[in-house]
Amino acid sequence: RPPVYVRARVAPLSHGLMLALVEDRTTEQRVEALRRDFVANVSHELKTPIGAISLLAEAVGEARDDPEAVERFAARMQTEGERLTRLVQQIIDLSRLQADVASADAGVVTVGDLVAEAVEHSHTDAEAKDIKITQDVAPGLHLRGDRAQLHAAVSNLVENAVTYSPPGSAVAVAASADGEDVRITVSDRGVGIAPEEQERIFERFYRVDPARARATGGTGLGLSIVKHVAASNGGTVEVWSEPGLGSSFTLVLPARDVDEGEHE
Ligand code: ADP
Repeated sequence: RPPVYVRARVAPLSHGLMLALVEDRTTEQRVEALRRDFVANVSHELKTPIGAISLLAEAVGEARDDPEAVERFAARMQTEGERLTRLVQQIIDLSRLQADVASADAGVVTVGDLVAEAVEHSHTDAEAKDIKITQDVAPGLHLRGDRAQLHAAVSNLVENAVTYSPPGSAVAVAASADGEDVRITVSDRGVGIAPEEQERIFERFYRVDPARARATGGTGLGLSIVKHVAASNGGTVEVWSEPGLGSSFTLVLPARDVDEGEHE
C-alpha cells in the first residue's frame, strides 16, 4: 500500500505535493505491473510454439519409417515455426510502438495505395477461402502519418476480416473523408464479436476463443497494434459488431491536404 510508505517519507511536504507523489508512485507501479504482465505473457506465448516444435521434432525422429507421418509432422512444424516468426515480429512491432509514441514518421500517405497494399497482403488467404475483398476509396484521399505503421494497422484489420469470416463471404474496405478526418472501414460478414468482448479484443494477447485463434495462427496482438498505431498517428479505432452478422472496424485518422509537389 503506497500511501503509508509515501506518507512516512514526505510528512513535512505540503498536502498537494504529497498527493502528487502518491499518484506518481502508483502510476509507476501500474506501469511496472503492466510490464511484468507483458513479459509473463510473452514467455507463455513463446513457450507454446517452441514446445510444439520440440515435440514434433521428437515425433519426426520416431516416425522415420513412416514417410506419411514424417510429412504430416514436418508440415505442422512449419506452421508452428511461422506462428513463432509472426509472434516475434508482432512483439517487436508492439514494443517499438510503446517505446516511443513520438517516433511516428509523419509523411504523406495516399489512402488508395494503403488500402490496395493491405488487400494485397491478404490476397492468398482470401483466395484460399474464396473470399472477395472489395475496395471503395474516395479519390484524392491523403493521410499524414507513418506509412509502415499505417500499413501494419490496415493489413491487420483486413487479415482479421478474412480470418474470422466463413468461406465464400465478402469483405469490404472503404475509405472516405469526414471533415478533417479520413475514415477507413474494414467490414466483414463473419462470426462477429459479443458486446462484452468488444473492448477487451484491443488488449494484448486477448483472444475471444483462444483454441480457435491458435488454429488460425492468431497471436492476440494484432488489434493492440492497430490501437497503438491509431493513437501514435493522432487517430482512433472504432468497432461495430453483431455476433453472427459480422464486424466492422474503422480507423479514424487526420486527413492531409496535399499541395503540388508534396507527394511521396
Ligand atoms: P488474433 O491474432 O487472435 O486475430 P487480434 O488482436 O487481431 O488477435 O484480435 C483479437 C481477437 O478479436 C481475435 O482473437 C478474435 O477473437 C477477435 N476478432 C478480431 N477481429 C475480428 C473480426 N473481424 N471478426 C470477429 N472477431 C474478431
